[in-house]
Amino acid sequence: MRCLERSLTHRLEMSDLGSILVTGKRDPANAARDAHDLGSVIEPIYTSTTFARDENHELHVRSRSGKSVCYSRPDNPTVATCEEILCALEDGADCALVSSGMAAVNAVLEGVVGGGGDERCVLAPTRGYFAVRAFLKEWCASRRVNLIEYDPDYPYVAYGAENERLVVDCPEDTPKNGHNAGVSIYHCMYNAAHYGKRISLIWIESPANPTWDVVDLGRVVRTARALGHGCICVDSTVMTPCLVKPLTLGCDIVMHSATKYINGHGDVVAGALVTREKNENWRKILHVRQLGGAVLGSFDAYLLLRGMRTLDLRVQRQSESALWLARSMQESDMFNGFDVLYIGLPSHLQHDVARRLFQEGLYGGMLSIVLLPEWLQGQWDAKGRRGRVGLGDLVSFCKLVATRSTVWTCATSLGGFESLIEHRYSVECAPGEQNPHVPAGLLRLSVGLENKEDLLLGLEKGVLAALDSI
Ligand code: PLP
Repeated sequence: MRCLERSLTHRLEMSDLGSILVTGKRDPANAARDAHDLGSVIEPIYTSTTFARDENHELHVRSRSGKSVCYSRPDNPTVATCEEILCALEDGADCALVSSGMAAVNAVLEGVVGGGGDERCVLAPTRGYFAVRAFLKEWCASRRVNLIEYDPDYPYVAYGAENERLVVDCPEDTPKNGHNAGVSIYHCMYNAAHYGKRISLIWIESPANPTWDVVDLGRVVRTARALGHGCICVDSTVMTPCLVKPLTLGCDIVMHSATKYINGHGDVVAGALVTREKNENWRKILHVRQLGGAVLGSFDAYLLLRGMRTLDLRVQRQSESALWLARSMQESDMFNGFDVLYIGLPSHLQHDVARRLFQEGLYGGMLSIVLLPEWLQGQWDAKGRRGRVGLGDLVSFCKLVATRSTVWTCATSLGGFESLIEHRYSVECAPGEQNPHVPAGLLRLSVGLENKEDLLLGLEKGVLAALDSI
């Protein structure tokens, strides 16, 4: 009997992602206990904004976490169920859902950096999701917070002798692949420490959208701790807890645009934060959510919960298809005019870092292809067209590939069940502007659940249609 009990306890620990996604942390035999104690198997949607008190003024509705529920801005039982599952997936101590990924970024900035003094410093990447970069810049500028930027493409890179601020020899610097420009995240940390600056917040997006630079999270944690820097927050939207769990590597907070893979069905805008410790930073973040009011509604939480149940299955299939597509395109004549950026390919600059970081040989469903101007020039010349291929020609060709590909939909966003393609340069730059961080020939691909051969064929059709237009 003891033995049986032990094995049951073991099973109910449910370290397996699939089990956590389906049942949360509870014993499925007990099913849900809703307000009417019906034992409904599927979480009800608690639309009530408020919950009654008894004669002692005590609250009697409890969420699954055991917390009593008073009012739906700080606490809603449907939202709480969703948070519990996300918290378990990330191996965290607590989770807070908010109304969008950007609301999550705001809560971290306000909570972690907001109250500090004039010497506040934030370290952030030069590449990554453009709205987060823009917001970080504006937020720091408006609050006179010192924003230090690192180049996520340089995992071990040499420091720039030209830059007078970079005077410190970073012990871990090893020039890689001939790069000698850019400033690595490590160098920024050493440099700040040298000048007596403690970095309050280290922002990481890995892999960084849309070039998929990977940051060695364990190494960043070791360096930051050794130098006494502060909170490390990872935008893990693209990794998902199915592939990497940053908190287990010592990072402090994980952030998700849950709009993407976590929901996976393109019908909810949501953000999530998960913390490694319930510390002062976390208390402030919860405070910002509660008083700032950017909470998630119960219907959205329900949809998120429903979408999340299949997260591991989706991520597995999308990762397998993405790797197959990346390899197929690298080997195919049809795509020899494109560089393929996928962290699962040995040709990716940080493939070795990714191999150590990512679990079970899966690298996620995001990749990009970058049109080579010299190839387009060759096609141009072969068709007897005069002149040199310019930026506008490159952009037009890419837009045609994006809109003429079949199976793929040309649209913003990522991580859903449907495959999306987008020319990021056109999206991120106002007309006439240049964005040095996104190659003009880059097409971002979010691989969905369609048949992988159909996806390849769809892209080939796009390339052929664009070639026809030359
Ligand atoms: N972080 C990343 C990596 C994203 O791709 C996005 C949105 O595309 C966000 C944050 C912002 O999330 P949301 O659109 O849910 O506010």
